[in-house]
Amino acid sequence: MKRITVAIDGYSSSGKSTMARRLAGATGYRYIDSGAMYRAVTLFALDHGMISATGEVDAEALAAALPSIRIDFAPATEAGGQQHTLLNGTDVETEIRRLRVSNAVSPVAAIPAVRRALTEIQQAMGREGGIVMDGRDIGTTVFPHAELKIFVNASAETRARRRFKEMMETGAQVSYEDVLANVVRRDHIDETRAESPLRKADDALELDNSTMTLAEQDAWLMEQFEKRVQA
Ligand code: C5P
Repeated sequence: MKRITVAIDGYSSSGKSTMARRLAGATGYRYIDSGAMYRAVTLFALDHGMISATGEVDAEALAAALPSIRIDFAPATEAGGQQHTLLNGTDVETEIRRLRVSNAVSPVAAIPAVRRALTEIQQAMGREGGIVMDGRDIGTTVFPHAELKIFVNASAETRARRRFKEMMETGAQVSYEDVLANVVRRDHIDETRAESPLRKADDALELDNSTMTLAEQDAWLMEQFEKRVQA
């Protein structure tokens, strides 16, 4: 059977990753969370003093360090669990989800050298098809020829509520207001950056999942997937 490429893009905390992970699980495809890669690079920059207290990124130093940053994904340790992001061999899965990284990631992701390096790695991962990747520019830049492209949206409040709930479950000490402010700010930077801004690819299907249950979302996505595989 044909092994297609699935690109799922959308705003922060729109549920893209859950959607992508579940589709990959149901189809046996490889799942890649491209946002985790930008987060890992951001954590590296923070830990190496490349981001000032006011949020300024030393783009030159970070670009020079890119060859020494290795990002891998380790399979989930429990059934149905989440895969873990490794930064130079260290498991950073919990750390990259903290607000410290969320607040710094969009300016890092706007640096052209960072985008070029990560896009190249992502394209190499998808060369054989059989992949579901989620992010902001997967359908427009990384896999412009993907057979199935989805653009997910939901209101900023719905998205912030989801992210807040997730963070509370991991024991993070955050306020809903801080999470909402982060979501709105990241959307703005992601949409207005010069290189590969967040936008819907012309041939992407748009999905607003604000009022959909997970089961409804899974069913809708599987139907789109089957159509492309059989085409
Ligand atoms: O998907 P997630 O919210 O974890 O992504 C974190 C950040 O990484 C986004 O806000 C965006 O700035 C950046 N990103 C990107 N391109 C991607 C995936 C993520 O610019 N393909």
